[in-house]
Amino acid sequence: MTLFEKIIARQIPAEIVAEEPEWLAFHDINPQAPVHVLIVPKKVIPRLGEATPEDALLLGKLLLAVQTVTRKLSILETGFRVVINHGHDGGETVPHLHVHVLGGRPLAWPPG
Ligand code: AMP
Repeated sequence: MTLFEKIIARQIPAEIVAEEPEWLAFHDINPQAPVHVLIVPKKVIPRLGEATPEDALLLGKLLLAVQTVTRKLSILETGFRVVINHGHDGGETVPHLHVHVLGGRPLAWPPG
């Protein structure tokens, strides 16, 4: 099981922000901004580049989940950034697709 599967199965604790049948959102354990939430699909897709056309609806739901999370944490109006890391150069460390949602302060661009 991936680390995130264990969080979804409540085998590892996490600070949950929101949940729907197809995804779970929880606070990142090592936040890079005042708000740093991960949205993970309950279906295991290792990384974005391995999603298939079958996953199109799920991928859309993950992006719409960003609205739910940012509204709930009061950063929908102030702004936020959505990041998906893929592979070594992308900085991926957990092989279970996840959407980072960062906000609560102005974010620099370009990222490092
Ligand atoms: P990535 O580097 O894009 O694969 O992102 C993985 C993220 O998972 C990192 O931002 C980590 O801080 C975060 N993370 C690792 N372990 C946990 C955990 N137990 N609970 C919450 N977030 C975690």
